[in-house]
Amino acid sequence: MKTVTYLVKLGELTLKASNIKLFEKRLVQNLKKSLSSKKGIQITLRAGRMYVDYPSENDKTLAPAVEYSLNHLVGISGWARTEVCEKNIQSISQTVFEQAKIAKEHGAKTFKIEARRSDKQFPLQSYDIARQAAASTYDSKLLDVDVHNPDVTIHVEVREKCFVYCDNITGHRGLPVGSSGKGLLLLSGGIDSPVAGYKMIARGMRIESIYFHAYPYTSDEAKKKVEDLAALIAPYGVETHLHVIPFTKVQMRIKEICRTFRWPDGVNNNIQPEAYSTLLLRMCMMECANILAKQIKVDCIITGESLGQVASQTCENMAVTESMSKYPLFRPLVGTDKEDIITTSKKIGTYETSILPYEDCCVLFSPKHPVLRARISDAKMLYDAMDCEQLIKEAFDEREILKFSAHDYVAENF
Ligand code: ATP
Ligand code: MG
Repeated sequence: MKTVTYLVKLGELTLKASNIKLFEKRLVQNLKKSLSSKKGIQITLRAGRMYVDYPSENDKTLAPAVEYSLNHLVGISGWARTEVCEKNIQSISQTVFEQAKIAKEHGAKTFKIEARRSDKQFPLQSYDIARQAAASTYDSKLLDVDVHNPDVTIHVEVREKCFVYCDNITGHRGLPVGSSGKGLLLLSGGIDSPVAGYKMIARGMRIESIYFHAYPYTSDEAKKKVEDLAALIAPYGVETHLHVIPFTKVQMRIKEICRTFRWPDGVNNNIQPEAYSTLLLRMCMMECANILAKQIKVDCIITGESLGQVASQTCENMAVTESMSKYPLFRPLVGTDKEDIITTSKKIGTYETSILPYEDCCVLFSPKHPVLRARISDAKMLYDAMDCEQLIKEAFDEREILKFSAHDYVAENF
């Protein structure tokens, strides 16, 4: 029976000698989970490589599912669809020749071979494998050799079997999901928070997401956009739940307190309470996120904040938000430039959705002159005056929970 084989290179995993078995197991589990709706796929691990095999008669349906899953799998440095051939130089040369023919059909004029020999019993060294395997392609003038800037690189790996492949797709690297605890991501409709979530996923973290929705001040389209973003990042983390919290009443209470509040005598403060409104909203979000964090047992809370990006993201203001959290607050983008965030967002496929025009916050609630250097004591004074614990609890109880997973995506689309 003919089989199709994908060869997967593990990433940073190979550096973690003491935990490697556990990490490898997680990686296999994650890929299996993503592909569990598909029958006949075999996943095996051997000496720093993972192999995905299935009968070639099922190629049409299984190739897109496998490639989608590998493109979303965290913890691998790369993958390739590979030919498997006999472990002798004639067979290798023949397979290289076939690959070169395909490359030529796709427009290649020059090639080089990169050979690796993990099986030290094999009689030829890497350099000689490359030289001899290239000979028939070169001699027959199928392709020219160019070792510096070839149109195509043909890889040869001599292991327990021999693998020959051209397209080497770069993986997401990092650690397999499930090896670094669980985090709660504050997911809004912007560019930053999906990238922040992805960054933590790529460090091996499981992610749940929470979104605060203030209907009708924020539209149904804005909510749909966040759902789409959750669906787009879920496959990297294998799965995620999105908790949608109806936050309109809390927003109204903030607006009201900002209108009616007067600073007590002796507080030397010429800042309008309204300047604190965005920050008060962040404080309420953090309070609510802490309730959920406790219930779903996460280890940290994650936001997409980046230092200085907007008025609410100064050191002082971030300290206020942080003061509301009993959980460690991770901000994976805090030192990242916006252009770099955009590059990652395009890479992971969230950018086009993030830039849709539906806003996740309403101008009605945005202060004209937001406070830049908030004082924790003043922010707490306003927050306490709101007396909003019950309101937040009620919003939490009314939340809607949606589930997104790689498994569902693969099952529905391939
Ligand atoms: P983003 O691009 O992620 O929307 P932003 O640059 O617009 O971020 P802010 O609006 O100040 O920045 O939000 C800072 C962070 O607070 C967001 O990255 C997100 O983690 C969280 N956040 C903001 N609004 C919401 C919301 N409605 N629901 C959940 N989290 C939110
Ligand atoms: Mg935003």
